[in-house]
Amino acid sequence: MRVGIIGGGVTGIVAGYYLSKKGHDVVIFESEEDVGGLLGSYHISKGGVSYNIECFYHHIFRSDRELIGLIEELGLSERLLWLKGSTGYYVGGKLYPLTTPKEILKFPHLTLSDKVRLAALVLRTKFGSFDKLDQVRARDVIERIGGRRVYKNFFEPLLRSKFEDERKNISAAWLFGRIRIRSDRSAGGEHLGYMEGGFQYLIDRLKEEILKQGGKIQTDEPVTKILTEKGRISGLKSRKKSYQFDKVISTVSPRVLDAISDLDVGDLPYQGACCALFGLKRPLLDGIYWLNIAGDLPFGALIEHTNFAPRSWYGGESLLYVASYFQREDDPRWKLSEEAVTAQFIDGIKKLFPDFTADDINWWRITRTPDAGPIYRVGFKRLIKPYRTAIDDLYIAGMFSGANYPERSIEGSVRAAKACVELFEEDREK
Ligand SMILES: Cc1cc2nc3c(=O)[nH]c(=O)nc-3n(C[C@H](O)[C@H](O)[C@H](O)COP(=O)(O)OP(=O)(O)OC[C@H]3O[C@@H](n4cnc5c(N)ncnc54)[C@H](O)[C@@H]3O)c2cc1C
Repeated sequence: MRVGIIGGGVTGIVAGYYLSKKGHDVVIFESEEDVGGLLGSYHISKGGVSYNIECFYHHIFRSDRELIGLIEELGLSERLLWLKGSTGYYVGGKLYPLTTPKEILKFPHLTLSDKVRLAALVLRTKFGSFDKLDQVRARDVIERIGGRRVYKNFFEPLLRSKFEDERKNISAAWLFGRIRIRSDRSAGGEHLGYMEGGFQYLIDRLKEEILKQGGKIQTDEPVTKILTEKGRISGLKSRKKSYQFDKVISTVSPRVLDAISDLDVGDLPYQGACCALFGLKRPLLDGIYWLNIAGDLPFGALIEHTNFAPRSWYGGESLLYVASYFQREDDPRWKLSEEAVTAQFIDGIKKLFPDFTADDINWWRITRTPDAGPIYRVGFKRLIKPYRTAIDDLYIAGMFSGANYPERSIEGSVRAAKACVELFEEDREK
């Protein structure tokens, strides 16, 4: 069966891998120069050292079973390492490590009674159905169980770094889901998964397998129209030419799908991301991997990748991500030049670390996308899109699928791709 796949992110290439493995004639169309989507990497070559590093910071969790299974299936298990992921919080001009229970106990911006209520809240997140949690705001649940200070001084920076002005509308389902997956904690902190050499290894191996199994990957070729005849798929039109297909799987965002098809999926709220990566001469965050920040800055978190993965992998440099999300098309982080946005980020870092100067920076890169993921507002669940669509033989899977609720992830995209392939096969056998 001839299958066209729109989008070469994780969902598209995992679907392409399983379908070509089953003997289908698969063609993946990707608008960019390479596949990988949000999990794509920079290829850095400096001073005799070459490495891949994700354009957007990534790590995985022990509970990511399908993804870990896929890594095993592809013979990459030895590359998957469980590294310590320390966290911290920058507030009132000071950086506080908040990884271990001991560090949380020492945190001066919560009283002892706040900390007891915080523990009660964390315990409470282990229970409750997402159907009900989807109907209430995270903020309300936090304030009810943990109190106002726990919201303001502990959770608000986390919600702000992820959803900025939308933080007040985020559902408790998102928050509870986030806390539930962070289960690999011990007294010494949390362990997170990362691949030695980067997740590019996973992307490259999937690409290799798809080609070996007879599939095709056509990069730099955006799909411009999903073609139908009498309510069923007939093919795809790309910027280059038209193709006939028996079935199509689209993995692009609702915004793009709306533009290239007659489906109406634009009701699903998405946000954009703007993320800079700096190659630094020296470490900045005092050993902390993930630093949430309270304050009025154009970013919500600083992530020092080399406080997670060893600096020796990167020629001894420190790699620092500046993480920010935006919700409006007129946001300066989307509209301004890369240079102007980077200058704003550098000014922001200087406010936090006054001894930081431009001389500390060896190089920088920036990646921006309007389609970084859904905004999990209250009531989001009913907006989730099923894999089958109103057009026969057209399937959709991606960050908007049930497998990615209540938070999108690489795991969710692997699960969405597998679920879609299963339905596809089920329909074919009918
Ligand atoms: C800042 C950030 C940090 C993240 N951190 C983590 C993390 O730590 N752990 C984790 O598990 N997940 C993380 N994620 C989420 C993870 O990256 C995504 O869930 C996953 O990569 C999504 O894959 P996808 O294939 O569903 O979507 P995408 O990666 O968006 O793939 C869609 C693809 O379609 C292509 N495309 C668009 N339009 C067209 C067109 N017209 N024709 C053809 N192709 C088109 C795009 O170029 C893209 O390659 C993070 C995401 C971001 C943004």
